[in-house]
Amino acid sequence: MTIQTTTTIGEDLIGALRAGLGEGSVLTSAEDIGGYLVESRGLYKGEALAVVRPRDRDEVALVVKECGRAGVPIVPQGGNTGLVGGGVPHGGIVLSLDRLQRIREVDPVNATITVEAGCILKSVHEAADQVGYAFPLSLPSEGSCRIGGNLATNAGGTAVLRYGNMRELTLGLEVVLADGRIWNGLKGLRKDNTGYDLRDLFIGSEGTLGIITAAVLKLYPKPQARGTAFIGCTSPGQALKLFERLREGAGDQLTAFEYMTDFGLEIVLKHRPAAQRPLSGRHHSYALIELSSPQKDADLQGRLETILGSALEEGLIDDAVISASGAQSQALWSLREDLSEVQRLEGGSIKHDVAVPVSRVAEFIEAASKACEAEMPGIRVCAFGHFGDGNIHFNLSQPVGMDKAAHLAEWERFNRIVHDIVHDMNGSISAEHGIGLIKRDELPHYKDPVALDLMRSLKKTLDPQNILNPGKVVAIGESWPTGF
Ligand code: FAD
Repeated sequence: MTIQTTTTIGEDLIGALRAGLGEGSVLTSAEDIGGYLVESRGLYKGEALAVVRPRDRDEVALVVKECGRAGVPIVPQGGNTGLVGGGVPHGGIVLSLDRLQRIREVDPVNATITVEAGCILKSVHEAADQVGYAFPLSLPSEGSCRIGGNLATNAGGTAVLRYGNMRELTLGLEVVLADGRIWNGLKGLRKDNTGYDLRDLFIGSEGTLGIITAAVLKLYPKPQARGTAFIGCTSPGQALKLFERLREGAGDQLTAFEYMTDFGLEIVLKHRPAAQRPLSGRHHSYALIELSSPQKDADLQGRLETILGSALEEGLIDDAVISASGAQSQALWSLREDLSEVQRLEGGSIKHDVAVPVSRVAEFIEAASKACEAEMPGIRVCAFGHFGDGNIHFNLSQPVGMDKAAHLAEWERFNRIVHDIVHDMNGSISAEHGIGLIKRDELPHYKDPVALDLMRSLKKTLDPQNILNPGKVVAIGESWPTGF
């Protein structure tokens, strides 16, 4: 009897994959695979036997079957822009979907587009635009993230308020299962009550239940008119009142309601020399809002002037600017988009991506800021994000002069403070980035134990060998570390 070692299993598998897919589809050199092993913020760095780049759905199925036969884990990857360590391998292979880039069908009457998982989000925007429609998922990473990754993380972004997140934007899926079978659920139906909703099971499963290879996505009439405004308020509570006022006055023309604090705006202005202060003075809180309409003649600027004019008169807001051109509107949006990036330049940042009911979002920002500032004097709260969805990126920049590593070492202590407040408000510790590795061991503190039990049962049923992204989202007894 010959005993197979890990090395020979790896060599046999790579040989089988090269035979099935061709030499060029299986990368093994350190130089070729380095970029696939690191999470975009550099918080995790993994290792892998190989990076495999199939060209189509059938090749994906072949890879999954071969890995199942060898008992080797598979970590699917799209654009690798995920922020929770979900796409980082700890051994096994990385299955990159980046070559599955076909737009399979556009059906303008059904208002749907069928795309493969490796399509970059921006290219889907462009394909929709060519047929006079819009695909409304909008993220700062849209130039590099891919549809499969958007689906696997149930991505949100800046237009959820009007259009919903990836779950709401998807009608059908095609998925390669852990045993290599292909589930063809590519139906463009608005109504289909034929049993359990498998589509919603795979969306948001972060590669742990199946490999998404294609999807039918909903298209919407292209906005023909837009109105953008940047508003200064004295508190998050005032911003919430403004949100209510806008919802009353603009209905579903209100497409985005983003929030940032004075600290957030000041660091964007500091690190982006081309950025201009949008209002003459400084304010505690800011809202960036957008109205949009598919009607060309919708007077959105006039509507904004009426709503914001009366809010100003009543003292509900302190100051506001309404953009007069597309370029001005883009400049206002850049202030918000650049905030994700510039925090890095202020040293260590402890990050939380949380959601509470919209009615409690101001209360959350105030309570969590107070608790963190009391815990560590000098800590700089950077609360920003999708206020109108109740989703706040509640980040904590290190006190000036503090050692970065010492600050990051406090991550768990601040998790407990922030996540306890979120939990008490019936909120969620992951609004849009997912669980991955970074929150896997947080989940049992806050997720309903029955729900966790059901999640583990589903994982064991759909992936009995535990080869699909093992150790991510839910631990099911394996000894995968949370940090490597
Ligand atoms: P990856 O990072 O490659 O993968 C993410 C997860 O999905 C991993 O667990 C991976 O294993 C799994 N996966 C990938 N492809 C597949 C597949 N085909 N089948 C099964 N599983 C798969 N996210 C938001 O929701 N809203 C935001 O506003 C937002 N802003 C961001 C801003 C910046 C600057 C950055 C860097 C990221 C931001 N993100 C945001 C996070 C990230 O861009 C999104 O989560 C995005 O949807 C991930 O897509 P990706 O292709 O890069 O996925």
